Amino acid sequence: MPTENSFRDTLFDAGLLIASGVDGIYGRSGEFESVVDGIDGLISRDGGMPGAEVVRFPPAMPRSVMETSGYLKGFPHLAGTVHCFCGDDRAHKKLLQCLEAGEDWTAQQQSVDLALTPAACYPVYPMMALRGPVSAAGHIVDVSSYCFRHEPSVEPTRMQMFRMREFVCIGAPASVLAFRDMWSERGRVLIGALGLPVAIDVANDPFFGRGGKIMAESQRDQALKYELLVPVNSTESPTACLSFNYHMDHFSEIWDLRMEDGSLAHTACVGFGFERLTLALFRHHGLDRSAWPQHVKTALWPS
Ligand code: AMP
Ligand code: ZN
Repeated sequence: MPTENSFRDTLFDAGLLIASGVDGIYGRSGEFESVVDGIDGLISRDGGMPGAEVVRFPPAMPRSVMETSGYLKGFPHLAGTVHCFCGDDRAHKKLLQCLEAGEDWTAQQQSVDLALTPAACYPVYPMMALRGPVSAAGHIVDVSSYCFRHEPSVEPTRMQMFRMREFVCIGAPASVLAFRDMWSERGRVLIGALGLPVAIDVANDPFFGRGGKIMAESQRDQALKYELLVPVNSTESPTACLSFNYHMDHFSEIWDLRMEDGSLAHTACVGFGFERLTLALFRHHGLDRSAWPQHVKTALWPS
């Protein structure tokens, strides 16, 4: 397989990704987007979640949601916050002078009440908390969003802004765990049917710092996170294209998400990475999607 960087160059040369000058921020061609749309449609048709409540949030959320959710404890290095100019005419003049002189103008910017969404499911928990107790049958939400993580990389599979579609399950512990485990099998079937070599493995989130190492180990020991891996950049380190997360009562405690009987709900989510799946398809079936195997085309674009 080619090295990471050369796969990205191949994608640039083919016009599938468009360089911006910043690693991890790319334009996508119409061909690329057709594949994203195909995957989105496949998840809706064959994902088997017909009763799920569909909600879509913009890629920014209240900064208070990022603060309350604990994201800054685990992932301060990945978080993105929004800053804007809030000054008067004098401050504007100063900003323009800095710009003109090639000096840092961003000191004029102030933090506003927004943060960039780091994972599609983050706005779902406060939404559910506002509604009150969850019925014994539980609830499933279908959510999708552009997400931001400050992790610039030359690997085309590691972007700073990318799209994630998730099914989030909120309910009693046993049914939430069953949802997570059912999805790791369903994900294997769904993605395997696209002619991609898949493997499922236990995983951990990239928690920050020394304390983070302990959190990552504990997450692995309890098998809270699994990933569906597909070789994209290299065979030695395959890429996580789906993840299956069991949060136990982590988010429920934070947001006071309760069942009708007063007990804390549990939550889980399955996340599909649109760009990673799209890149995996181009990597394995070639850059010309019209030449892909017929069964793959039919699965993505049934007419
Ligand atoms: P995570 O919340 O880290 O488990 O991510 C959920 C899914 O989003 C992963 O399974 C990937 O498919 C995708 N993903 C995560 N990080 C990135 C990234 N930096 N670039 C592109 N896709 C990503
Ligand atoms: Zn999630």
